[in-house]
Amino acid sequence: MNRFSYHRAETLADAISHLRGNPAAAIIAGGTNLVDLMKYEVERPGELVDVTGLDELRGISETPDGGLRIGALVPNSDVAYDERIYARYPLLAHAVLAGATPQLRNAATTGGNLNQRTRCYYFNDVATPCNKREPGSGCGAIGGVNRIHAIIGASDHCIATHPSDMCVALAALDAEVEVVGPDGKRRIAFADYHRLPGDEPQRDNTLRSGEIVVAVTLPREASAFAGNYSYLKLRDRLSYAFALVSVAAALQIDGGRIAAPRLALGGVAHKPWRRSEAEEVLVGMSADDASFSRAADILLAGAQPHEHNAFKIDLARRAIVRALSQAASGTPQSLTDKRIA
Ligand code: SF4
Repeated sequence: MNRFSYHRAETLADAISHLRGNPAAAIIAGGTNLVDLMKYEVERPGELVDVTGLDELRGISETPDGGLRIGALVPNSDVAYDERIYARYPLLAHAVLAGATPQLRNAATTGGNLNQRTRCYYFNDVATPCNKREPGSGCGAIGGVNRIHAIIGASDHCIATHPSDMCVALAALDAEVEVVGPDGKRRIAFADYHRLPGDEPQRDNTLRSGEIVVAVTLPREASAFAGNYSYLKLRDRLSYAFALVSVAAALQIDGGRIAAPRLALGGVAHKPWRRSEAEEVLVGMSADDASFSRAADILLAGAQPHEHNAFKIDLARRAIVRALSQAASGTPQSLTDKRIA
């Protein structure tokens, strides 16, 4: 681990002033990803800016339009077990509980979940080339072992996936990211927060220099999906593993027909993967496997496998149909082992 200085921010403005124009500075809160990366020497920040004392980043509160605001410092566990979230946005609670372990969920924060780095093996191994870690050095995964890598939206520079479960549900629920920076506050639609790798895979998201995520907001309208939803996560073992494929599915059903769908994929792209056409095709259709298969084909159109991950395309197609079926029948993927009675 490199030597670094530590600054505990007293105010949001203080934190921003330490981050602005200082690419060597990194925000620290839960530290569940950053500290690991520092130990591997993947991240070598010159300064850590501790934001855990900032009240603006705390708590879950009602928004004026009837939604919920989740502060960036709210631990993953608190998101999963908040009764308002469980009643109004259970898809999010289920997605959070599908991730990590109880101990990690107690420490990991909402903001950190958004900003965690890929778990690409080569990114984490400084002895191998990686354009995300060191732009221009090459990509070890292309032509290497790429079983866990992207099948959609990748580039010739990077085929990494975003590892979050929480973010897949937030994308499906049309959340917004509230950020504050040198130019003030702005809100970013969740679909626009993470980015595809293109020729700048080192940039995971659209944050500008000096900006800090202060909260995520869920719109009131998304609570209409509290009855029919499922978060289905497929992985190599049942716990403490990242998704090979995950699906956040939610439906509003009226008279046996789909009135409104929401559908997002995890584990397949550099960001939570959503396509409006895949949802539009479901509107007015009966909630059956034929309709769900059509949506899956559209959502996966253009999927491009690599040497070791062609299986993900069929896995994703089946997972989409299954998650939508679970949502339609009101029987979400079971979490009986995760909820506190
Ligand atoms: Fe690096 Fe991306 Fe290639 Fe992985 S896939 S080695 S993160 S450039």
